Amino acid sequence: MAKIQMKTPLVEMDGDEMTRVLWQWIKEDLLCPYVELKTEYYDLGLVNRDRTDDRVTVDAAEANKKYGVGVKCATITPNAQRVEEYKLKQMWKSPNGTIRRILDGTVFRAPILAKGITPYIPGWKKPIVLARHAYGDVYSGVETRAAAGDKAYLLIEGADGAVKEKLLVQDFRKGSGIVQSMHNMDASIESFARSCFNYALDLRLPLWFATKDTISKKYDHRFKDIFAKIFEKEYKDKFAAAGIEYMYTLIDDAVARIVRSSGGVLWACKNYDGDVMSDMVATAYGSLGLMSSVLVSPDGNYEFEAAHGTVTRHYYKHLQGEETSTNSVATIFAWTGALAKRGELDGLPALVSFAKKLEAATLRTIEEGEMTGDLIPLFHAEGVTPCKRSSRAFLQAVAARLEAALV
Ligand code: NAP
Ligand code: MG
Repeated sequence: MAKIQMKTPLVEMDGDEMTRVLWQWIKEDLLCPYVELKTEYYDLGLVNRDRTDDRVTVDAAEANKKYGVGVKCATITPNAQRVEEYKLKQMWKSPNGTIRRILDGTVFRAPILAKGITPYIPGWKKPIVLARHAYGDVYSGVETRAAAGDKAYLLIEGADGAVKEKLLVQDFRKGSGIVQSMHNMDASIESFARSCFNYALDLRLPLWFATKDTISKKYDHRFKDIFAKIFEKEYKDKFAAAGIEYMYTLIDDAVARIVRSSGGVLWACKNYDGDVMSDMVATAYGSLGLMSSVLVSPDGNYEFEAAHGTVTRHYYKHLQGEETSTNSVATIFAWTGALAKRGELDGLPALVSFAKKLEAATLRTIEEGEMTGDLIPLFHAEGVTPCKRSSRAFLQAVAARLEAALV
Protein backbone atom coordinates (compact mmCIF):
# COMPACT_ATOMS: atom_id res chain seq x y z
CA MET A 1 0.00 0.00 0.00
CA ALA A 2 1.33 3.46 -0.91
CA LYS A 3 1.90 5.80 2.00
CA ILE A 4 -0.61 8.59 2.59
CA GLN A 5 0.79 11.96 1.54
CA MET A 6 0.49 15.21 3.45
CA LYS A 7 0.49 18.81 2.18
CA THR A 8 1.17 21.20 5.05
CA PRO A 9 3.56 20.15 7.80
CA LEU A 10 2.31 19.44 11.31
CA VAL A 11 4.17 21.24 14.05
CA GLU A 12 5.65 18.39 16.09
CA MET A 13 6.71 19.22 19.64
CA ASP A 14 8.68 16.45 21.31
CA GLY A 15 8.81 16.23 25.08
CA ASP A 16 10.22 14.45 28.10
CA GLU A 17 10.63 11.20 29.99
CA MET A 18 8.23 8.27 29.44
CA THR A 19 6.03 10.18 27.02
CA ARG A 20 9.12 10.98 24.90
CA VAL A 21 9.79 7.23 24.69
CA LEU A 22 6.14 6.54 23.75
CA TRP A 23 6.28 9.37 21.18
CA GLN A 24 9.06 7.64 19.25
CA TRP A 25 7.37 4.24 19.42
CA ILE A 26 4.00 5.65 18.27
CA LYS A 27 5.72 7.12 15.23
CA GLU A 28 7.61 3.88 14.49
CA ASP A 29 4.73 1.46 15.01
CA LEU A 30 1.60 3.38 14.06
CA LEU A 31 2.36 6.40 11.89
CA CYS A 32 5.49 6.13 9.73
CA PRO A 33 4.60 2.77 8.12
CA TYR A 34 1.41 4.32 6.69
CA VAL A 35 1.83 8.08 6.41
CA GLU A 36 4.62 10.04 4.72
CA LEU A 37 4.81 12.14 7.88
CA LYS A 38 5.50 15.76 7.12
CA THR A 39 6.35 17.61 10.31
CA GLU A 40 8.31 20.61 11.40
CA TYR A 41 10.10 19.19 14.42
CA TYR A 42 10.75 21.13 17.64
CA ASP A 43 12.47 19.42 20.52
CA LEU A 44 10.77 20.74 23.66
CA GLY A 45 12.60 18.21 25.83
CA LEU A 46 14.00 19.98 28.90
CA VAL A 47 17.63 19.52 27.78
CA ASN A 48 16.99 21.38 24.54
CA ARG A 49 14.82 24.05 26.17
CA ASP A 50 17.73 24.76 28.50
CA ARG A 51 20.26 24.69 25.64
CA THR A 52 18.20 27.22 23.61
CA ASP A 53 17.29 29.39 26.63
CA ASP A 54 13.68 28.25 25.99
CA ARG A 55 13.71 29.89 22.53
CA VAL A 56 12.57 26.55 21.07
CA THR A 57 9.23 26.77 22.91
CA VAL A 58 8.55 30.23 21.50
CA ASP A 59 9.60 29.10 18.00
CA ALA A 60 7.30 26.07 18.21
CA ALA A 61 4.36 28.22 19.30
CA GLU A 62 5.04 30.68 16.47
CA ALA A 63 5.17 27.77 14.00
CA ASN A 64 1.86 26.48 15.39
CA LYS A 65 0.43 29.92 14.69
CA LYS A 66 1.84 29.92 11.17
CA TYR A 67 0.70 26.43 10.11
CA GLY A 68 -2.43 26.14 12.28
CA VAL A 69 -2.01 22.62 13.67
CA GLY A 70 0.46 21.23 16.18
CA VAL A 71 0.87 18.08 18.25
CA LYS A 72 2.71 18.16 21.55
CA CYS A 73 4.26 15.54 23.78
CA ALA A 74 4.08 16.03 27.56
CA THR A 75 6.93 18.12 28.94
CA ILE A 76 8.50 18.70 32.33
CA THR A 77 7.60 21.98 34.00
CA PRO A 78 10.77 22.54 36.02
CA ASN A 79 10.71 23.01 39.77
CA ALA A 80 13.67 23.33 42.13
CA GLN A 81 14.30 19.58 42.07
CA ARG A 82 14.37 19.53 38.24
CA VAL A 83 16.78 22.48 38.16
CA GLU A 84 19.13 20.33 40.24
CA GLU A 85 18.45 17.09 38.32
CA TYR A 86 19.05 18.66 34.88
CA LYS A 87 21.56 21.29 36.02
CA LEU A 88 19.38 23.98 34.42
CA LYS A 89 20.51 27.54 33.78
CA GLN A 90 17.23 28.70 35.32
CA MET A 91 13.78 27.47 36.28
CA TRP A 92 12.17 27.77 32.83
CA LYS A 93 8.46 28.53 32.68
CA SER A 94 5.83 25.93 31.84
CA PRO A 95 5.95 25.33 28.06
CA ASN A 96 2.18 24.92 28.03
CA GLY A 97 1.80 28.34 29.63
CA THR A 98 4.14 29.89 27.03
CA ILE A 99 2.29 28.27 24.13
CA ARG A 100 -1.08 29.29 25.56
CA ARG A 101 0.04 32.89 25.91
CA ILE A 102 1.31 33.03 22.32
CA LEU A 103 -1.73 31.31 20.79
CA ASP A 104 -4.15 33.08 23.20
CA GLY A 105 -6.10 29.87 23.35
CA THR A 106 -8.55 27.92 25.44
CA VAL A 107 -7.85 24.36 26.57
CA PHE A 108 -10.55 21.77 25.95
CA ARG A 109 -10.28 18.40 27.68
CA ALA A 110 -12.23 15.39 26.46
CA PRO A 111 -12.29 11.81 27.76
CA ILE A 112 -11.69 8.95 25.35
CA LEU A 113 -14.43 6.36 25.83
CA ALA A 114 -13.86 2.64 25.34
CA LYS A 115 -16.52 -0.03 25.88
CA GLY A 116 -15.79 -1.93 29.07
CA ILE A 117 -14.34 1.09 30.87
CA THR A 118 -17.36 2.33 32.79
CA PRO A 119 -17.23 5.83 34.24
CA TYR A 120 -17.87 6.18 37.97
CA ILE A 121 -21.06 7.95 36.84
CA PRO A 122 -22.44 5.13 34.70
CA GLY A 123 -24.99 7.39 33.00
CA TRP A 124 -22.18 9.16 31.15
CA LYS A 125 -22.31 7.44 27.77
CA LYS A 126 -20.83 10.25 25.70
CA PRO A 127 -17.87 12.53 26.38
CA ILE A 128 -18.23 15.66 28.48
CA VAL A 129 -15.80 18.13 26.96
CA LEU A 130 -14.64 20.73 29.45
CA ALA A 131 -13.37 24.20 28.57
CA ARG A 132 -11.57 26.17 31.24
CA HIS A 133 -11.01 29.90 30.99
CA ALA A 134 -7.30 30.24 31.70
CA TYR A 135 -7.02 33.90 32.66
CA GLY A 136 -7.58 35.92 35.80
CA ASP A 137 -9.99 35.57 38.72
CA VAL A 138 -8.48 34.10 41.87
CA TYR A 139 -5.34 32.95 39.95
CA SER A 140 -4.19 36.53 39.69
CA GLY A 141 -5.95 37.70 42.80
CA VAL A 142 -4.55 40.15 45.34
CA GLU A 143 -5.13 39.25 48.94
CA THR A 144 -4.17 40.23 52.43
CA ARG A 145 -5.10 39.94 56.08
CA ALA A 146 -6.87 42.64 58.02
CA ALA A 147 -6.48 43.34 61.71
CA ALA A 148 -9.33 44.10 64.08
CA GLY A 149 -10.33 47.72 63.55
CA ASP A 150 -9.12 47.90 59.93
CA LYS A 151 -11.37 48.89 57.07
CA ALA A 152 -10.96 47.36 53.62
CA TYR A 153 -11.98 49.24 50.46
CA LEU A 154 -12.09 48.53 46.76
CA LEU A 155 -10.80 51.58 44.97
CA ILE A 156 -10.95 52.53 41.30
CA GLU A 157 -8.68 55.29 40.04
CA GLY A 158 -9.24 56.94 36.66
CA ALA A 159 -6.48 57.52 34.08
CA ASP A 160 -6.02 61.01 35.60
CA GLY A 161 -5.34 59.47 39.02
CA ALA A 162 -8.60 60.73 40.53
CA VAL A 163 -10.62 58.31 42.65
CA LYS A 164 -13.70 57.31 40.69
CA GLU A 165 -15.16 54.78 43.07
CA LYS A 166 -14.51 53.72 46.65
CA LEU A 167 -16.46 50.76 47.94
CA LEU A 168 -16.33 49.48 51.48
CA VAL A 169 -15.52 45.77 51.44
CA GLN A 170 -15.65 45.24 55.18
CA ASP A 171 -15.33 47.12 58.40
CA PHE A 172 -13.30 44.78 60.61
CA ARG A 173 -14.32 46.49 63.83
CA LYS A 174 -15.60 43.21 65.29
CA GLY A 175 -12.39 41.30 64.65
CA SER A 176 -9.56 40.42 62.27
CA GLY A 177 -10.11 38.72 58.93
CA ILE A 178 -9.04 38.32 55.32
CA VAL A 179 -9.62 40.25 52.09
CA GLN A 180 -9.24 39.32 48.46
CA SER A 181 -9.65 41.17 45.23
CA MET A 182 -9.59 39.80 41.68
CA HIS A 183 -10.12 40.89 38.12
CA ASN A 184 -10.72 39.76 34.57
CA MET A 185 -10.49 41.45 31.16
CA ASP A 186 -13.35 41.90 28.69
CA ALA A 187 -11.02 40.95 25.81
CA SER A 188 -10.02 37.70 27.50
CA ILE A 189 -13.63 36.76 28.22
CA GLU A 190 -14.54 37.59 24.61
CA SER A 191 -11.81 35.39 23.20
CA PHE A 192 -12.77 32.58 25.59
CA ALA A 193 -16.39 32.88 24.43
CA ARG A 194 -15.40 32.74 20.74
CA SER A 195 -13.14 29.73 21.30
CA CYS A 196 -16.01 27.92 23.02
CA PHE A 197 -18.61 28.79 20.36
CA ASN A 198 -16.21 27.76 17.56
CA TYR A 199 -15.29 24.51 19.21
CA ALA A 200 -18.94 23.63 19.91
CA LEU A 201 -19.59 24.10 16.18
CA ASP A 202 -16.51 21.98 15.33
CA LEU A 203 -17.71 19.12 17.52
CA ARG A 204 -21.43 19.76 16.91
CA LEU A 205 -22.01 19.68 20.65
CA PRO A 206 -24.38 21.88 22.65
CA LEU A 207 -22.55 24.47 24.74
CA TRP A 208 -23.34 25.06 28.41
CA PHE A 209 -21.87 28.00 30.27
CA ALA A 210 -22.45 28.72 33.92
CA THR A 211 -21.44 31.28 36.54
CA LYS A 212 -22.96 32.54 39.78
CA ASP A 213 -24.42 35.78 38.45
CA THR A 214 -27.30 35.79 40.96
CA ILE A 215 -24.72 36.41 43.70
CA SER A 216 -22.03 38.18 41.69
CA LYS A 217 -24.18 40.78 39.98
CA LYS A 218 -21.36 42.75 38.32
CA TYR A 219 -18.45 40.31 38.01
CA ASP A 220 -20.04 37.04 36.96
CA HIS A 221 -22.81 38.93 35.26
CA ARG A 222 -20.24 40.45 32.91
CA PHE A 223 -19.23 36.93 31.77
CA LYS A 224 -22.89 36.08 31.15
CA ASP A 225 -23.50 39.30 29.18
CA ILE A 226 -20.39 38.94 27.02
CA PHE A 227 -21.26 35.36 26.10
CA ALA A 228 -24.86 36.37 25.34
CA LYS A 229 -23.85 39.36 23.19
CA ILE A 230 -21.31 37.39 21.12
CA PHE A 231 -23.70 34.48 20.70
CA GLU A 232 -26.52 36.75 19.54
CA LYS A 233 -24.35 38.68 17.07
CA GLU A 234 -22.00 36.04 15.69
CA TYR A 235 -23.14 32.50 16.40
CA LYS A 236 -26.91 32.23 16.75
CA ASP A 237 -27.50 31.40 13.09
CA LYS A 238 -24.54 29.03 12.88
CA PHE A 239 -25.76 27.14 15.94
CA ALA A 240 -29.26 26.87 14.48
CA ALA A 241 -27.83 25.59 11.21
CA ALA A 242 -25.73 23.00 13.07
CA GLY A 243 -28.75 21.97 15.16
CA ILE A 244 -27.05 22.71 18.49
CA GLU A 245 -27.98 24.97 21.39
CA TYR A 246 -26.25 27.42 23.67
CA MET A 247 -27.50 27.37 27.25
CA TYR A 248 -26.57 29.66 30.11
CA THR A 249 -27.36 28.55 33.65
CA LEU A 250 -26.11 28.85 37.23
CA ILE A 251 -23.01 26.86 38.15
CA ASP A 252 -24.76 24.74 40.80
CA ASP A 253 -27.55 23.95 38.35
CA ALA A 254 -24.93 23.08 35.71
CA VAL A 255 -23.21 20.61 38.07
CA ALA A 256 -26.54 18.92 38.82
CA ARG A 257 -27.39 18.74 35.11
CA ILE A 258 -23.94 17.36 34.23
CA VAL A 259 -24.25 14.53 36.77
CA ARG A 260 -27.72 13.63 35.47
CA SER A 261 -26.77 13.95 31.80
CA SER A 262 -25.61 11.22 29.45
CA GLY A 263 -22.68 13.43 28.36
CA GLY A 264 -22.32 14.83 24.88
CA VAL A 265 -21.95 18.47 25.92
CA LEU A 266 -19.26 21.10 25.85
CA TRP A 267 -19.12 22.62 29.31
CA ALA A 268 -17.47 26.04 29.53
CA CYS A 269 -16.22 26.99 32.99
CA LYS A 270 -14.71 30.02 34.62
CA ASN A 271 -11.10 29.54 35.71
CA TYR A 272 -11.68 28.15 39.22
CA ASP A 273 -14.74 26.11 38.30
CA GLY A 274 -12.76 24.61 35.41
CA ASP A 275 -9.79 23.77 37.65
CA VAL A 276 -11.98 21.86 40.07
CA MET A 277 -14.45 20.35 37.63
CA SER A 278 -11.86 19.15 35.10
CA ASP A 279 -10.24 16.95 37.76
CA MET A 280 -13.66 15.72 38.86
CA VAL A 281 -14.68 14.88 35.29
CA ALA A 282 -11.29 13.27 34.45
CA THR A 283 -11.37 11.08 37.55
CA ALA A 284 -15.00 10.12 37.05
CA TYR A 285 -14.26 8.90 33.50
CA GLY A 286 -11.56 6.53 34.80
CA SER A 287 -7.94 7.13 33.88
CA LEU A 288 -5.67 10.08 33.14
CA GLY A 289 -4.30 8.00 30.29
CA LEU A 290 -7.68 8.36 28.58
CA MET A 291 -7.96 12.15 28.76
CA SER A 292 -7.12 14.20 25.68
CA SER A 293 -6.55 17.90 25.50
CA VAL A 294 -6.58 20.47 22.73
CA LEU A 295 -5.70 24.14 22.78
CA VAL A 296 -7.89 26.13 20.38
CA SER A 297 -7.23 29.78 19.62
CA PRO A 298 -10.02 32.20 18.67
CA ASP A 299 -8.45 32.60 15.21
CA GLY A 300 -8.54 28.84 14.59
CA ASN A 301 -5.16 27.37 15.55
CA TYR A 302 -5.06 23.95 17.18
CA GLU A 303 -2.53 22.25 19.44
CA PHE A 304 -3.28 18.65 20.43
CA GLU A 305 -1.84 16.79 23.42
CA ALA A 306 -2.51 14.29 26.18
CA ALA A 307 -3.78 15.77 29.44
CA HIS A 308 -1.35 13.77 31.59
CA GLY A 309 2.28 14.52 32.35
CA THR A 310 5.54 12.77 31.50
CA VAL A 311 4.81 9.78 33.82
CA THR A 312 8.14 10.13 35.66
CA ARG A 313 7.81 7.05 37.87
CA HIS A 314 7.46 4.79 34.81
CA TYR A 315 10.40 6.50 33.10
CA TYR A 316 12.78 5.70 35.95
CA LYS A 317 11.72 2.05 35.71
CA HIS A 318 12.29 2.20 31.95
CA LEU A 319 15.77 3.65 32.47
CA GLN A 320 16.61 0.71 34.73
CA GLY A 321 15.71 -1.65 31.91
CA GLU A 322 12.39 -2.68 33.47
CA GLU A 323 9.34 -3.16 31.29
CA THR A 324 6.65 -0.50 31.78
CA SER A 325 2.95 -0.57 31.08
CA THR A 326 2.26 3.09 30.34
CA ASN A 327 -0.97 4.12 28.69
CA SER A 328 -0.28 5.71 25.30
CA VAL A 329 -3.92 6.20 24.26
CA ALA A 330 -4.16 9.94 24.96
CA THR A 331 -0.87 10.52 23.11
CA ILE A 332 -2.09 8.43 20.14
CA PHE A 333 -5.28 10.51 20.11
CA ALA A 334 -3.23 13.71 20.16
CA TRP A 335 -1.63 12.54 16.91
CA THR A 336 -4.93 11.42 15.36
CA GLY A 337 -6.61 14.67 16.37
CA ALA A 338 -3.83 16.66 14.72
CA LEU A 339 -3.66 14.50 11.58
CA ALA A 340 -7.45 14.59 11.13
CA LYS A 341 -7.52 18.38 11.56
CA ARG A 342 -4.62 18.78 9.08
CA GLY A 343 -6.43 16.48 6.64
CA GLU A 344 -9.65 18.47 7.04
CA LEU A 345 -7.91 21.82 6.46
CA ASP A 346 -5.88 20.55 3.50
CA GLY A 347 -8.71 18.58 1.87
CA LEU A 348 -7.04 15.18 2.36
CA PRO A 349 -9.81 12.66 3.07
CA ALA A 350 -7.31 9.76 3.11
CA LEU A 351 -5.47 11.36 6.02
CA VAL A 352 -8.72 11.97 7.93
CA SER A 353 -9.81 8.40 7.32
CA PHE A 354 -6.43 7.03 8.47
CA ALA A 355 -6.74 9.00 11.73
CA LYS A 356 -10.24 7.64 12.35
CA LYS A 357 -9.08 4.07 11.65
CA LEU A 358 -6.17 4.44 14.06
CA GLU A 359 -8.55 5.68 16.76
CA ALA A 360 -10.92 2.78 16.11
CA ALA A 361 -8.05 0.25 16.19
CA THR A 362 -6.85 1.70 19.52
CA LEU A 363 -10.30 1.42 21.10
CA ARG A 364 -10.83 -2.09 19.71
CA THR A 365 -7.55 -3.23 21.23
CA ILE A 366 -8.85 -2.25 24.69
CA GLU A 367 -12.36 -3.52 24.03
CA GLU A 368 -10.96 -6.91 23.01
CA GLY A 369 -9.08 -7.12 26.31
CA GLU A 370 -5.54 -5.90 25.58
CA MET A 371 -4.64 -2.86 27.67
CA THR A 372 -2.07 -1.19 29.90
CA GLY A 373 -2.01 -1.79 33.64
CA ASP A 374 -3.84 1.39 34.64
CA LEU A 375 -6.99 0.20 32.84
CA ILE A 376 -7.11 -3.39 34.17
CA PRO A 377 -8.99 -2.58 37.41
CA LEU A 378 -11.46 -0.37 35.49
CA PHE A 379 -12.33 -2.89 32.79
CA HIS A 380 -15.48 -4.98 33.03
CA ALA A 381 -16.95 -6.64 29.95
CA GLU A 382 -18.80 -9.90 29.79
CA GLY A 383 -16.76 -12.67 28.21
CA VAL A 384 -13.57 -10.59 27.95
CA THR A 385 -10.71 -11.14 30.37
CA PRO A 386 -8.44 -8.10 30.44
CA CYS A 387 -4.76 -8.83 29.73
CA LYS A 388 -2.03 -6.44 30.80
CA ARG A 389 0.33 -5.45 28.01
CA SER A 390 3.64 -3.64 28.22
CA SER A 391 3.89 -0.14 26.72
CA ARG A 392 5.38 -1.46 23.48
CA ALA A 393 3.22 -4.62 23.27
CA PHE A 394 0.10 -2.48 23.52
CA LEU A 395 1.26 -0.37 20.56
CA GLN A 396 2.01 -3.54 18.59
CA ALA A 397 -1.46 -4.89 19.39
CA VAL A 398 -2.94 -1.64 18.03
CA ALA A 399 -0.69 -1.87 14.96
CA ALA A 400 -1.97 -5.37 14.16
CA ARG A 401 -5.58 -4.16 14.20
CA LEU A 402 -4.73 -1.02 12.24
CA GLU A 403 -2.96 -3.09 9.61
CA ALA A 404 -6.07 -5.27 9.23
CA ALA A 405 -8.34 -2.21 8.97
CA LEU A 406 -6.22 -0.58 6.27
CA VAL A 407 -6.19 -3.40 3.70
P1 NAP B 1 1.78 12.50 35.47
O1 NAP B 1 2.98 12.40 34.63
O2 NAP B 1 0.49 12.72 34.77
O3 NAP B 1 1.71 11.16 36.32
C1 NAP B 1 1.07 11.02 37.56
C2 NAP B 1 0.71 9.56 37.81
O4 NAP B 1 -0.51 9.28 37.09
C3 NAP B 1 1.70 8.57 37.25
O5 NAP B 1 2.76 8.31 38.15
C4 NAP B 1 0.83 7.37 36.97
O6 NAP B 1 0.47 6.68 38.17
C5 NAP B 1 -0.44 8.02 36.47
N1 NAP B 1 -0.41 8.23 35.01
C6 NAP B 1 -0.41 9.43 34.34
N2 NAP B 1 -0.41 9.24 33.04
C7 NAP B 1 -0.38 7.91 32.84
C8 NAP B 1 -0.34 7.08 31.70
N3 NAP B 1 -0.33 7.63 30.47
N4 NAP B 1 -0.30 5.74 31.85
C9 NAP B 1 -0.31 5.20 33.08
N5 NAP B 1 -0.35 5.93 34.21
C10 NAP B 1 -0.38 7.26 34.09
O7 NAP B 1 1.93 13.68 36.54
P2 NAP B 1 3.12 14.10 37.53
O8 NAP B 1 3.84 12.88 38.01
O9 NAP B 1 2.51 15.01 38.47
O10 NAP B 1 4.13 14.93 36.63
C11 NAP B 1 5.27 14.39 35.96
C12 NAP B 1 5.88 15.47 35.09
O11 NAP B 1 4.98 15.82 34.06
C13 NAP B 1 6.20 16.75 35.84
O12 NAP B 1 7.52 17.17 35.53
C14 NAP B 1 5.19 17.77 35.33
O13 NAP B 1 5.74 19.05 35.23
C15 NAP B 1 4.86 17.23 33.96
N6 NAP B 1 3.47 17.55 33.48
C16 NAP B 1 3.36 17.91 32.18
C17 NAP B 1 2.11 18.15 31.64
C18 NAP B 1 2.02 18.56 30.20
O14 NAP B 1 3.03 18.66 29.51
N7 NAP B 1 0.84 18.77 29.68
C19 NAP B 1 0.96 17.97 32.41
C20 NAP B 1 1.11 17.55 33.75
C21 NAP B 1 2.38 17.32 34.26
P3 NAP B 1 1.30 5.45 38.77
O15 NAP B 1 2.66 5.97 39.07
O16 NAP B 1 0.49 5.10 39.98
O17 NAP B 1 1.33 4.35 37.75
MG1 MG C 1 -6.56 21.30 39.10
